[in-house]
Amino acid sequence: MTSNILLVEPKYYSKYPPLGLLKLSSYHKRFGHNTELVKGTTDNISNEPDIIYITSLFTWAWKPVWEAVEFYLKNFPDSELWLGGLYASLMPAHAALSGVNPSHIFRGIFSEAEDLLPDYTLVPEWNKRISGSIVFSSRGCIRSCPYCAVPLIEKSMNSEKHSIRHLIWPDHRKVIFFDNNFLASQTWRKILDEVEELNLGVDFNQGLDARLITEEVANRISRLKIDRFIRLSYDYIQMKPFVRKAIKLLKSQGISGRNILVYTLYNFTDDPDDFYARISDILKWGAVCYPQRYEPNQALYKNQHISPKWDAIRLNAVQRARRVIGSNGAFLPHEGMLTLKIQRFFTFDEAFKEFMVPLEETIK
Ligand code: SF4
Repeated sequence: MTSNILLVEPKYYSKYPPLGLLKLSSYHKRFGHNTELVKGTTDNISNEPDIIYITSLFTWAWKPVWEAVEFYLKNFPDSELWLGGLYASLMPAHAALSGVNPSHIFRGIFSEAEDLLPDYTLVPEWNKRISGSIVFSSRGCIRSCPYCAVPLIEKSMNSEKHSIRHLIWPDHRKVIFFDNNFLASQTWRKILDEVEELNLGVDFNQGLDARLITEEVANRISRLKIDRFIRLSYDYIQMKPFVRKAIKLLKSQGISGRNILVYTLYNFTDDPDDFYARISDILKWGAVCYPQRYEPNQALYKNQHISPKWDAIRLNAVQRARRVIGSNGAFLPHEGMLTLKIQRFFTFDEAFKEFMVPLEETIK
């Protein structure tokens, strides 16, 4: 008997299509089932579903997930409803309060669908606009940074693929790697050989580990058709020598600093001066600094967490500076305001003075 499968992406913002649902579609189509993807809550559905899968993303986007669960449970009481994704994996007890049967909360990765080509027929707009295949050539990570959810969900490095050819949609011209730590995989060389052979554009979406960038890596990367940025991270001050060396190596292979973007974590165990020192380093090295505010892994509201060494005025100052002197939220290494300041100032408060306004003015 043919089953009807309804795939639901709750109504939150996401730049990328719901990869897990696209893989589930491929998985079910192998059994001859019909699949349909919808966004948010709608009763404009072609067939009464036998199974409903609802995905989830960041923990702070839990409300639209609850809305979806409530809506589909009410409208299709005879369907089997499953909830999965990041929020459900990180906070199953909270997710269960949505009304979903707790035994139908799926945590982690559905391994049976992991190696299937996602069903991109469900996202025609994505195919037209981006024309890129999202690929995990590996899962997990060799590190266990305390601010990261990867060790909790995907654990240590695993599932290293020897080929990704079967995961590239025929019409796509680009591969978007979602690997958490691409270079830590034993098979990264083979994967890049394939990417070059297929003549694909490349986006290392989750960034590359600066500690693993060698001359060989920099050379291999310089041969690729990189989609705008090579992304690194400078999460704490002890990473300084590694990030400096990585940027130097990439530049020595002809990659412009303006195409090297460095995520800069703040509001974790750092203090504002430590954060400012890292911004200064990145701009002095000629790369782009992208401040990234720390959010706890189980934050139910975004931008609410204030770590012990930060306060609301300084956190707001970073946001304002990103809006006023940043470019799409990033600080560029040009001879503009920030660079001049770096030459003159030593502390966060000196450099960000004009952006530090009393809280009551922020609220107005
Ligand atoms: S290296 Fe990156 S992916 Fe790995 S644990 Fe640290 S932050 Fe997470």
